[in-house]
Amino acid sequence: MNSKKSTKNSKKLIKGIAASPGIAIGRVFIWDSEEYTISKHSISENKLMLEISRFEYSLIKTRSEILEIQNQISKEMGVEHAEIFNAHLLVLEDRMLIEEVINKIRKEKVNVEHAFVVVIKKYAEIFSKMDDEYLRERLADIQDVGKRIIRNLLGKQKQGLAELKEKVVVVGTNLSPSDTALMHKEKVVGFATDMGGRTSHTAILARSGEIPAVVGLKTITPFVKNGDIIIIDGNSGNVIINPQKAVIKKYQKEKKKFQDFEKGLSRFKSLPAITKDGRSIVIGANIEFPEELPSVIAHGAQGIGLYRTEFMYLNRTDVPTEEEHFQAYKKVAQTLKKNPAVIRTLDIGGDKFVSHLEIPREMNPLMGRRAIRFCLARPDIFKTQLRGILRASVYGNLKIMYPMISGLVELRQANEILREVMHEFKRKRIAFDKDIEVGIMIEVPSAALIADILAKEVSFFSIGTNDLIQYALAVDRINEKIAYLYEPAHPAVLRLIKSVIDAGHNAGIWVGMCGEMAAEPVFTLLLLGLGLDEFSASAVSVPEIKKIIRSVNFEQAQAIASKILLFESSEEIQKYATAKLSELITNSKK
Ligand code: PEP
Ligand code: MG
Repeated sequence: MNSKKSTKNSKKLIKGIAASPGIAIGRVFIWDSEEYTISKHSISENKLMLEISRFEYSLIKTRSEILEIQNQISKEMGVEHAEIFNAHLLVLEDRMLIEEVINKIRKEKVNVEHAFVVVIKKYAEIFSKMDDEYLRERLADIQDVGKRIIRNLLGKQKQGLAELKEKVVVVGTNLSPSDTALMHKEKVVGFATDMGGRTSHTAILARSGEIPAVVGLKTITPFVKNGDIIIIDGNSGNVIINPQKAVIKKYQKEKKKFQDFEKGLSRFKSLPAITKDGRSIVIGANIEFPEELPSVIAHGAQGIGLYRTEFMYLNRTDVPTEEEHFQAYKKVAQTLKKNPAVIRTLDIGGDKFVSHLEIPREMNPLMGRRAIRFCLARPDIFKTQLRGILRASVYGNLKIMYPMISGLVELRQANEILREVMHEFKRKRIAFDKDIEVGIMIEVPSAALIADILAKEVSFFSIGTNDLIQYALAVDRINEKIAYLYEPAHPAVLRLIKSVIDAGHNAGIWVGMCGEMAAEPVFTLLLLGLGLDEFSASAVSVPEIKKIIRSVNFEQAQAIASKILLFESSEEIQKYATAKLSELITNSKK
């Protein structure tokens, strides 16, 4: 028997990294790049016209498919997300390409599929060799549309993630943050990938969208086929392929239990995060799109601690205009009223790659020209965003936050650009909040180590543990192979966090955390005890953090933190923190 076939049909449990909580049971939809085998055959003279009309028909069909997707995406996610497909439409209208295919069919008397593949390959090769980065990046559009046309010529069906017709569990080697952003939220009930880590942006998007997900499974794709039944346990990281009926029943119960647990937390949504002895903590939410605002409010967050604005730049072929920035931030400001919203300036690069911004593919993108480094190199793009934020600042309580600051010079350069925009606004009498708070993310170890110096020139710090851990421990946050080394409880990480909080407080500024560590209940007591002023996490995590904070005295949390700082390994820390949390839960039930 074919071994591949047998593995694909057998029941199997695979363990991966729990990326987004909840349980999903559904049918597999494989998300992968497909390759079709195209054969060459000759066409008789009297059938040539028919062959050419097949080509023309496939172009029309492809065009209407793309228009339909655009329409759907713009309804669900806004016009800006739909614009990515404009470049695809342009490929379809390329006269030179079309004529070359038709000439080839006529001259060589060959089938259209073969003629088209030869021509599209030639185009792809030309584009891949271009010096201009922007044109080189058009290659992806050509390949994408090319595949669509071939699929239509062959009469095959393939749904994109935005066009799903029924509920599915998406399984693939990898999902990029842009694939995930385009996902049809109502139709994707869960996903599982071979690659990825817990703090990859794909995992973060799953948590924001409340989609159960397991990543870093290493080898799930060889074991599944379209239509298989699959269980995704986003709490434990288990994925079960073709489970027996009894197992499905067990997980249906688990799913209900998880939903009840979430419901049980709902009473904390409207309560303040205040310790038993009266220390008040701000609990914010992290968002990627303004569309998440209703969920932020519904989960009881007291503001936005991190708005990842770079998602506005993904899945499109141009950069957002000042007006688009303004409208998005105004919506956030008006919705939150007096509550604060921290707008993080563009943090592009790393795993959030945008081809049209002429960012060359780098050997080591996570340490490359990302975030503030990119903005300082492109003040035109940076200023457009700052203008949008400042214009919106009069509608509520907005704050500006720069990502990836590694030293004082970078901070001063960013502030200088901001000052230029402010002067321009004053000259032109454009209204803005003159007292707007400007802060920085502390996510590069060098910044953490000189936090005392940086604190003198900012209004707040927000600790970005996702990157801080990655850089402090030299562990790529997206790489599933070394995910076991990605340890928030590493004593080195805790020392960095403590010194940042202390440095901020010594300088009289508030210190928050918007990395995923802030969302982990096991660390809430520790972070509270270290003196963190603000926690910002996916909206779903807000009620649980509130619950924990409300059940202790600040002094108790301080004692836990002091004890933890004495431990020498992350295992001991994790064990102690887990024990303290369960103790608290048990006591609060009494
Ligand atoms: C972080 O690095 O902790 C952070 C919050 O930013 P991002 O996850 O977007 O890199
Ligand atoms: Mg970061």
